Amino acid sequence: MSEMKIEVQPLVGFDQLLTYGVSEKFISTIKIGCLVQIPLGRRRVLGVVFSLHSSEEIATEKLRFISHLVQQEPVLNQDLIRLSKWISSYYSCSMESVLGAMIPAVVRDGMKAKNEKLIQVSPGLNKVMVSEALNRSPKQKKLFSELDKQRKPVRKTDLVNKLGFSESTIKGLLAKGLASEILEVVNREAYDDDLDFDRVDAEWELTAEQKVASSELIDVLEQKNFGVQVLHGVTGSGKTEVYFEAMEAALNQGGGVLFLVPEVSLAPQTVARLRARFSKMNEQVVVWHSHLSGGERLDAWRNLTTGKARIVVGARSAVFAPINSLRLVIVDEEHELAYKQEDTPRYHGRDVAVYRAMLTRAVCVLGSATPSLETFRNIERKKYSVSRLMNRIDGRKLPLMHIVDMRLDARRERGTPILSQCLIEALRQRHENREQSILFLNRRGFNTTMLCTDCGAVEECKDCSVALTFHRTDGYLRCHLCGFRKVAPVFCTSCKSLEVRRKGHGTQRIEDLVSKLMPRSATVVRVDADMMTKKNLFRETLRDFRRGKIDVLVGTQMIAKGLDFPNVTLVGVIDADLPLRMEDFRASERAFQLLVQVAGRAGRGDRAGEVYVQTYAPHSPSIQFSRKPDIEGFLEEEMEMRRELAYPPFRHLIRHIFRGRSLEKTEFYATEWRKVLDAEPIPGLEAKGPALAPIEKIKGYYRFHLFYLTSSVQESLNHLAKKRAIFPLDNEIHDTIDVDAHQMS
Ligand code: ADP
Ligand code: ZN
Ligand code: ZN
Repeated sequence: MSEMKIEVQPLVGFDQLLTYGVSEKFISTIKIGCLVQIPLGRRRVLGVVFSLHSSEEIATEKLRFISHLVQQEPVLNQDLIRLSKWISSYYSCSMESVLGAMIPAVVRDGMKAKNEKLIQVSPGLNKVMVSEALNRSPKQKKLFSELDKQRKPVRKTDLVNKLGFSESTIKGLLAKGLASEILEVVNREAYDDDLDFDRVDAEWELTAEQKVASSELIDVLEQKNFGVQVLHGVTGSGKTEVYFEAMEAALNQGGGVLFLVPEVSLAPQTVARLRARFSKMNEQVVVWHSHLSGGERLDAWRNLTTGKARIVVGARSAVFAPINSLRLVIVDEEHELAYKQEDTPRYHGRDVAVYRAMLTRAVCVLGSATPSLETFRNIERKKYSVSRLMNRIDGRKLPLMHIVDMRLDARRERGTPILSQCLIEALRQRHENREQSILFLNRRGFNTTMLCTDCGAVEECKDCSVALTFHRTDGYLRCHLCGFRKVAPVFCTSCKSLEVRRKGHGTQRIEDLVSKLMPRSATVVRVDADMMTKKNLFRETLRDFRRGKIDVLVGTQMIAKGLDFPNVTLVGVIDADLPLRMEDFRASERAFQLLVQVAGRAGRGDRAGEVYVQTYAPHSPSIQFSRKPDIEGFLEEEMEMRRELAYPPFRHLIRHIFRGRSLEKTEFYATEWRKVLDAEPIPGLEAKGPALAPIEKIKGYYRFHLFYLTSSVQESLNHLAKKRAIFPLDNEIHDTIDVDAHQMS
């Protein structure tokens, strides 16, 4: 008997490889990476085949057999299987969570086509009978004539949602036998992500610098081996064209290309340019983003696994896209925080991209105007090579940066003004010249809160210990962590005083303020994170801005990324210090990156731009270095500070979070854990904490964290896991590990 055994990684229920037998009928078709159904205890669950063995290789006592082979095509190739193992071990997370991130739900669900219910008039009806049957039910009568009019089956969802018929009316008609229901496989809409961008410029002659950088990348590709190349180019230096040259070379070598961007909806130009350029080569560009419907994702998946498409552009999770013979991985804006996933599996998209490239012996290109310190360190250590673009296209000048010392305005106005006089003046000037401006707020947290001017209390979320944010549109206070909301109170919850005031510079407040300060003819529009959920609204706003219908765009730093508006000649940064006031050793790096990116948004057209940076700390290095900008200068100074403290990138930082409903209990176990670490220190690991996290409570759970600094993640994790396995943690307390943590709050 030709018997075969396989090792299967279940997708749910059991975080470990399990051995199964394969019955005769599946033996010839089963492959590594196939999705199978297996009996697990009394359940049947899905799993992925990780390895195939002859019967003698693995000894088993009672062998169970797989129940079903979901489909013959593997859902993961060998490289992705190896990648999943690395992620699970490096980021200390379950295989289940990794495979969950890698295999989209539609694929896990067995790639079943979706059926839809259609309703049609039953054939061969007698008119008289029909009108009698519907005599006393006007709604059914209306429905019947509608169906009759349409002459073809109508989607049930359309009847309900578009035409306003109720389920019960439909049911009634079906019950009388006047209509019948049929099931039909849904035809998906054509693949359309409405990311179209109006203007795609003709192809340009590459600049000399672009040519050099491209040929450097192509040289690396030609070595047909793994390599990481950093493309360090100032904003507006034309990095995208260089990526495209490398992509073309990779495709010509017969390989696939992965192009990662921090956020797809902020990169419509890149997508449009990709499409325009590669459709000429008859290449289909798959856009892999979070708004894809199940069907669209399935199509994208199929097109990639079958090799019909070889180019993927997408955000973080696209790093797992099933591209065959991957040859080139591009990580644009590699320094962006958005690449780090902040829930399990807490991987870093850039680092996974590098690792995946290594596994497939592909080339990874990390592009940025402001490389992260991690990347800069790898350049210093000669692990990565670097190509540079030092000049903006056509020698356009970087904008002139004005540092506005807000301490002076504050003294003059005896308060904390939002906008300085000189910024207001500059905004008015632009409007007069018919030029556009952008105003940046540092982050979404820059919100309106309710403050009691009698006792100083701020209205907080009872579960999350963060200030609630006031939304003028509906008068509600909202928690941005758990979604709790309540009507804004008219008196203070702490002292009952009526002196509760709204405080803060929410994007809305600034929009109002700017509208008031500007001439009536000026249009001021705001974009914020809430708008991101309504993707069309967001895109329309950006489109209007691009077409010059908006004079001043107010928004958080999400609009700082990758946008390119030629008519913008003024950029204002409302509060450049905010990142510096957060509890994060990367704050200065963040502030610097933001300023440089923001400055790059001005003066991209023919006119020179100006940037106004409002700050209470005009002498901080992030502000001074961004002024020139002196990127290497900043990196070197910041690197020195990190070196002294042996912070990342000199060591890895692991964050260990304890969560529990009881403050005392959570603190107790975090402290006990620290004692365990101190009793027998782990070699090469420095522990800090426990401390109450800056956001001390989320969704009713208190949070304490410890930080570990180590040179070897893997070794430290092994030691930690051994200790953790015998640590008697109360089952009401949960702990999580975040390797290479970026979020400190
Ligand atoms: P970066 O990503 O480096 O900030 P982009 O790739 O977005 O810069 O290019 C900046 C602008 O320059 C874009 O609007 C692009 O259309 C234009 N551009 C790029 N390369 C050339 C070129 N060789 N000649 C003329 N314009 C170019
Ligand atoms: Zn009060
Ligand atoms: Zn909350």
